[in-house]
Amino acid sequence: MLLADFSWEEVKDYLKQKDDLIIPIGMCEQHSKHLPLNTDTLIAEYISDYLSEKTKILVAPTFNYGVGLPCDRFYPGSTSIQYKDLRNAISSLINWWELQGFKNFFLISAHGDPFHLKALRAAGEGRVFVLELYDINMKGVLEKQKTAKHAGEAETSVMLYLFPEKVRKERIEDFETAFEVFKDYLNHQKDNPIPNSPGCQGYPTFATKEKGKKIVEIMKENALSWIQSHSQE
Ligand SMILES: [Zn+2]
Repeated sequence: MLLADFSWEEVKDYLKQKDDLIIPIGMCEQHSKHLPLNTDTLIAEYISDYLSEKTKILVAPTFNYGVGLPCDRFYPGSTSIQYKDLRNAISSLINWWELQGFKNFFLISAHGDPFHLKALRAAGEGRVFVLELYDINMKGVLEKQKTAKHAGEAETSVMLYLFPEKVRKERIEDFETAFEVFKDYLNHQKDNPIPNSPGCQGYPTFATKEKGKKIVEIMKENALSWIQSHSQE
C-alpha cells in the first residue's frame, strides 16, 4: 500500500485507523562490478512492501539517497549526501506528516554505513525507528563470511534470489580487506579508493539463490516482529 497512490482524503481515513508510516531509505552507491547502484534501494523497498502487506501500514515514497563511504567517491555513479543533510531531510518530511497525525515512522535501510544509520536515528527520537536489514543472525547460512559485507556473499545471494536478472554473474569477483584496514574506511577516516578493489568486500562468488532465500526469510521474520513491537507503542 503506497501512500503516494492515495488521495489526501484516503490518507485522512487511514489516519483514523493507524498512525504508522514505513519509509524505505534507498541509496545510490556502487556495488562492485556485478550489482547495480540501486541494490540497497531494491531490497529496502522489497521488505517495505512485504511489511505493508502484513501490517496494512502505508509505505511512503522511497528516500533515494544516503550517506556513503568517502572511498566510494571514485566509483562512477555513486553519490552521497552529508550526515546533517540526511538527518534534516528526514526530520523535515516527518514534521509535516506528524502534524497530520502520523506518529511512528519506520525507516527501512539495507545500507549499513554507520553515519547513515546514525543520521536516520537522529532524525527523531521516540518517533523514528530504524531497521538495518542485515542486522540479523545469518549463522549456518553463509559459508565464507560471518556477517553481511558490501556486495559480498550475503548481499549477492539476496539479489540472486530477489532480482536475478540484475546480477552480472560473469563480473563477480571476491575481494577481502582485513577489518583492521577496512575499519578506517568504514569510519570515514580514509577517503582514498581501496587499492585494486572492484568495490566489494567478501566472497560474492559463494553467493547462491538458496542462501538468498534463507536470508530474505530471516530478514522478513525479524522485520515483522520489529515493526509489530513498535507500532503498538
Ligand atoms: Zn548494499
